[in-house]
Amino acid sequence: MSVSRRDRVFKGSLAPGEIKTNRVHESGRVCADTRCETVLSVYNATGWCWQHERPHPYILQAPRRKRRGSRAA
Ligand SMILES: [Zn+2]
Repeated sequence: MSVSRRDRVFKGSLAPGEIKTNRVHESGRVCADTRCETVLSVYNATGWCWQHERPHPYILQAPRRKRRGSRAA
């Protein structure tokens, strides 16, 4: 089987899915905590302000550097 020039052409396609924009939520929302009157940002996806939102894992999206000389004893 011979490899012709046409066989070496790679055809690309766009990634599936739609282009995502920043999700904006309704403006004028207030924190769900009954004693709190903090108006939430339109970018806040939760129902709580930063003081009352439930604990959730924070995923750091940055490369980690290896520490030199650190070893578990
Ligand atoms: Zn609050």
